[in-house]
Amino acid sequence: MRRTKILVTVGPATDSTEGMTKLLRSGADAFRLNFSHGTDDEHRTLLARMHAASRQAHREVAIVADVQGPKLRIGNLVGHGVNLAAGQTWILDRDARPGNTHRVGIEIPLLKRVAEPGDPVLLGDGSVELRVEQAGPESIVTRVVSGGFVSAHAGLFLPRARLRTSVFAEKDRHDAAIALVGGIDFLALSFVRNGADLAEARRWLDRAPGGRDVGLIAKIERAEALAAIGDIVRSSDGIMVARGDLGIEVPLERLALEQKRLIREANANGRFVIVATQMLLSMTGAPRPTRAEATDVANAVLDGADAVMLSEESAVGKFPFDAVRWLDRIAVATESAYDPQSVRDRLALENSKAPEIAHERSVAAAAVHLAEGVKARAIVTPTHSGRTARLVAGLRPACPVLALSGVPATRRHLSLVRGVEARLTPLHADLEQLRRSAVEIARSRGLRGKGPIVLTAGYPVEGRPTNLVTLVDGEEPSPPLRSRPRSAPGSASRGRPR
Ligand code: PEP
Repeated sequence: MRRTKILVTVGPATDSTEGMTKLLRSGADAFRLNFSHGTDDEHRTLLARMHAASRQAHREVAIVADVQGPKLRIGNLVGHGVNLAAGQTWILDRDARPGNTHRVGIEIPLLKRVAEPGDPVLLGDGSVELRVEQAGPESIVTRVVSGGFVSAHAGLFLPRARLRTSVFAEKDRHDAAIALVGGIDFLALSFVRNGADLAEARRWLDRAPGGRDVGLIAKIERAEALAAIGDIVRSSDGIMVARGDLGIEVPLERLALEQKRLIREANANGRFVIVATQMLLSMTGAPRPTRAEATDVANAVLDGADAVMLSEESAVGKFPFDAVRWLDRIAVATESAYDPQSVRDRLALENSKAPEIAHERSVAAAAVHLAEGVKARAIVTPTHSGRTARLVAGLRPACPVLALSGVPATRRHLSLVRGVEARLTPLHADLEQLRRSAVEIARSRGLRGKGPIVLTAGYPVEGRPTNLVTLVDGEEPSPPLRSRPRSAPGSASRGRPR
């Protein structure tokens, strides 16, 4: 069983129900819809298809709505894009008409304050660079330093344009409302600066119909966020290392170090962390990754990421399913070399600072210690909110964590947590029944063999903090489980586990 989760961005290459089903069958665990592209109707259709694909694949997958945030973008361009040559001038102005090789429109209030002569301007992923020559109230004249192809609506990075507006403004709220109606599990907030940005979105979600049930992912993609990372991590359910924009805001040579620091911070606080962008970029046009890409994915796994993400590779690439399969292969080949000791040490340190969670974390640590001591096949944990499963998985045990939950949203939310597989099961109050369920679930996952199973739970189940760790002999008799009908993803309440 692969431990690292795979989040795929859906786009024109995969936007049919069949395409999405194939993504899941190739190994994807969760879908991402990028609201920077497309219309309201397209978003509604894609969300409906994501639910249909989950049903077709008999999988419970998380759906992540990624809202654009205050990203600066150039406007439309004739023919979807233009080639700029080094040395030519290019004017950024406020004209809404499609741009060309002489000019392009941008929408920034107080245009002149966002640039000074000599400032660098980066476009797209940063490969096209301009330099400001004149900055007036209506236009900025630039000279092209590094030329290349610029696509319509490409991202625009102006170092002086510190965006003071909310990171969850009108367009994002509009998109989030559509996403809530369509049925999502996580809202990914772009360009967050601090914990207050997340608190603002949380308040909005808590008031919106169905919003209380949705988790928040903080996309880390601006330098300011790095300074407030502890606050951001603790205010979110998980973070995304959004290397596309982060790689423009911080010196590229520091990106690997920042990625490692962000993963450590999320691990130490028990939040999931997704590593995103350009993981297998060459696979947009080729059926195999480069050596460097394969190594990058492996390093994210070794750093301790919960999930790796595909963007263009699965949205517009020629080999979206191969890209998912390659992520799967690389993760599986790498995971056994992961050393969990440093994350365990950091969690123990956090424990000593937070007595209110020390009890549960200590029980989780006991379960993992026991599982490794007896070479357990699996740690089975009945969980209502997913909390016990997250605590156990956060210690990165050697064996899989099988989370048993009757709450569909809990199972979906766990699809971004490394090492956890969530299963639908009735929650038994009776310990003997629980022990039998544990054996049955491990068997149904093909986890046969002689090793015992570690069962950890809050007992009696509902509402209790985790207080039980016990060994279950893998050979215990297992009468058939009383099963509940499987709920169709999207049809049930997408309750946010707390
Ligand atoms: C990124 O910048 O890496 C990212 C994931 O965000 P987006 O794709 O929205 O630019």
